[in-house]
Amino acid sequence: MLRYVEAGLSDLEVPQEISLCIYLSGCIYRCEHCHYQDLQAPDGGNLLAENFEPLFLAYQAYMTCLCFLGEGSACDQHELLHYVEYAHAKNVKSCLYTGKEQLEDWMHNFDYVKIGKYLPQRGPLWSETTNQRMYVRHHEIWFPLKPAMFR
Ligand code: SF4
Repeated sequence: MLRYVEAGLSDLEVPQEISLCIYLSGCIYRCEHCHYQDLQAPDGGNLLAENFEPLFLAYQAYMTCLCFLGEGSACDQHELLHYVEYAHAKNVKSCLYTGKEQLEDWMHNFDYVKIGKYLPQRGPLWSETTNQRMYVRHHEIWFPLKPAMFR
């Protein structure tokens, strides 16, 4: 089951959206210079299932997007997609930040997906040399966002 260590509003993670960002623990990617080491702890934080709905409802009036920082393990995908469906039913978009290098079929339920590990020599999402990419989905097609959109 998914666990999270922090949640709050931000307009930085997804361009032109105000996101309720939920930081999930159990990240498996072990990036060099990880910006948030607590996310690598497998049992860090609290069970998301116990707090998701109150959290969402508390922020719903202020948010346009639900953004997960991390994805938990493969067996957590069903739970993650349940929250995405919940958000869409309330006309709130959804975003996933993952360290994976490729988009996968199950990610098509999200409106935005960021892929790629953080490599300090390539820089973050707003760097022209970054290896990371955020995609926005229009119908079934993914379009990459330019680094300049994150500045
Ligand atoms: S994907 Fe994010 S949280 Fe996971 S190790 Fe890399 S920088 Fe840290």
